[in-house]
Amino acid sequence: MTQPPNAAHHFDLAYAEEDMGRTATAFTHTASTDRQGLVVAGKCPRCHGQTSTEYRHGAPGTGTKGLRSWLAGKQPEPDPVEDAGQLLQETHFCECGHPHPNLPQDAPFIGCGASWRIEVLNRGEAG
Ligand SMILES: [Zn+2]
Ligand SMILES: [Zn+2]
Repeated sequence: MTQPPNAAHHFDLAYAEEDMGRTATAFTHTASTDRQGLVVAGKCPRCHGQTSTEYRHGAPGTGTKGLRSWLAGKQPEPDPVEDAGQLLQETHFCECGHPHPNLPQDAPFIGCGASWRIEVLNRGEAG
């Protein structure tokens, strides 16, 4: 499946919990501003909105899934390459921030409901 890289954000796309599988869309990871986590950013493969998800280092009860063992402080100074490897195993959810039509009240993320896994993860510019 090929998509034009500059596809516009589909604001009218109705919310649906759709698993997009692995996406070839390139994502970047950067350290969060407070250095307490990582931010994975890119374009949602479903609605094409800009989405970014923050993965915290060992913050309990924040609702982040996966990465828990690594975030729990097994590795106080995680190797960025290893981080990237972990993030490739993660399921990412659309957090484009646009309340798509039919967005459930209890939706875990404000977005189109898509989930996917990343295939291409580049190290972003340090913020
Ligand atoms: Zn989306
Ligand atoms: Zn969207």
